[in-house]
Amino acid sequence: MISDLNKLDIKDISDVDYCIIGSGPAGITLALELERAGKNILLMEAGDVQWTKESTDCYKGVNSGDQYFDLAFTRQRFFGGTSNHWTGWCRNLDESDFSSGKISGVNWPISKKDLDPYLQKSCEILEVDSNFANESLSTEFGVEAQQFNFSPPVRFGQKYKNRIEKSNSIHLILNANLTDLIYDNTRVYEAMFHSYTGNNFISKAKTFVLATGGIENSRLLLWFNKKNQIKLIDDRSPLGKYWMEHPHFYIGKAFLDRRWENAYLGLDAATRRSLGILNAGIRIEGLGDEGATALIKDIMCVAPDLGKKIGNLFEKNLVCAAEIRGAWEQVPNIDSAIQISENQFDSFGIPRPLLNWKKTSFDIETISKTLQQINAWVLFENMGRFKFNNWLLTEGPFPDSIETGGHHHLGGTRMGTNISDGVVDINLKVFNKENFYILGSSVFPTGGHANPTLTILQLAMRLSSHLLQR
Ligand SMILES: Cc1cc2nc3c(=O)[nH]c(=O)nc-3n(C[C@H](O)[C@H](O)[C@H](O)COP(=O)(O)OP(=O)(O)OC[C@H]3O[C@@H](n4cnc5c(N)ncnc54)[C@H](O)[C@@H]3O)c2cc1C
Repeated sequence: MISDLNKLDIKDISDVDYCIIGSGPAGITLALELERAGKNILLMEAGDVQWTKESTDCYKGVNSGDQYFDLAFTRQRFFGGTSNHWTGWCRNLDESDFSSGKISGVNWPISKKDLDPYLQKSCEILEVDSNFANESLSTEFGVEAQQFNFSPPVRFGQKYKNRIEKSNSIHLILNANLTDLIYDNTRVYEAMFHSYTGNNFISKAKTFVLATGGIENSRLLLWFNKKNQIKLIDDRSPLGKYWMEHPHFYIGKAFLDRRWENAYLGLDAATRRSLGILNAGIRIEGLGDEGATALIKDIMCVAPDLGKKIGNLFEKNLVCAAEIRGAWEQVPNIDSAIQISENQFDSFGIPRPLLNWKKTSFDIETISKTLQQINAWVLFENMGRFKFNNWLLTEGPFPDSIETGGHHHLGGTRMGTNISDGVVDINLKVFNKENFYILGSSVFPTGGHANPTLTILQLAMRLSSHLLQR
């Protein structure tokens, strides 16, 4: 069933098993899993079935740290969430992403094995192949071709609207903005929602799940903590902290053997460990004839013989010219954080988010050493030449760029083993609350370098299994 809080003053609904707040890939996947078990679910969505100005306005915020996207563009606030905008790149996290060895404090309290049982089903929802095995290209240099699969991309709102409309167990309420939670030291009892037209709704449920995305989860919790007498999230927990992205930057140019055009290359876990770096991938983006000609001209100016040689190989279609793009894992940093504004508020009086994204010199080291290692392999095999962008050679600063990240909002309510190193436990339950859970990439303690949505779906299914076993 679907209702619209803008139009109806819906009476309080009690006796609901689950109240899921947010209808992006996380919230919808969880709702569908719980529906199969015959549970009653309220799925609360702040936006409409399509984009609206009034909802998007609530997503405005301030970037107070490193250069980042407009916060109202990097996420979508309507039914289906940011899947209305995503590109569909899919890959699961590597085993090593859960425990990155050498770098202290960088690990998940669960392992890849805990998520594997949910891989196949998550891939079916995203309509992608579930084989993500990398191809080893050199054991000596530890270079591998990384496997990404591509969702059409699935738009969750479009895909599941009819099904939810006909469902007897899922009640989706649109234009319902979470504005407060009623709780004590152990439980959450009620969630309060407001529409844009002044209607209110109170949800009483046995269990509440917050799935409002990788910035909003922190923002809302920070606000509830500030406005209410009792802390919803314990002060010792790193709420809003360790916020991460996957930095995306152009890092160089290359002439390479044709077969690597558009490949995605990276290093195996053992090589990364020995170099003391985190996970990364470099994409060889073919520049086409025009780009190649310009690059050959550049080389001719400084090394005419080499330029001629490359020109010949290019004419024979043996090499490609490429721009090299890196996308990689950041080291979790307590100072990279979401905070809330003191003087800017949305139309419901909730402080706007301040995103203080911070990259460190370690983040440059990860991508620089990855490219150096792949370069060493290319030179050894005589398969081409890389030209590194200057900021990599000088180890910073990061250049100005239109695209600085992947729109992957990671951390802020990280999973931990205890109240002082996490906001949620291994089952995504908020420490010290019996019936309150957080779902989405905000729970990632580390980011790996895979795009996050597939992992979010695996976490949603694992959460469903946990809730049904309770
Ligand atoms: C341009 C772009 C490209 C991307 N490409 C990829 C890609 O190729 N691969 C990949 O894996 N990921 C990609 N992503 C990221 C991907 O979209 C997210 O990982 C995914 O959508 C997160 O799902 P979610 O359900 O956790 O959050 P969201 O999809 O953000 O959903 C959150 C939901 O909560 C609702 N909500 C927010 N506040 C409230 C409130 N107060 N009350 C009630 N409801 C509320 C929102 O309206 C929304 O529906 C991309 C993102 C962008 C912007």
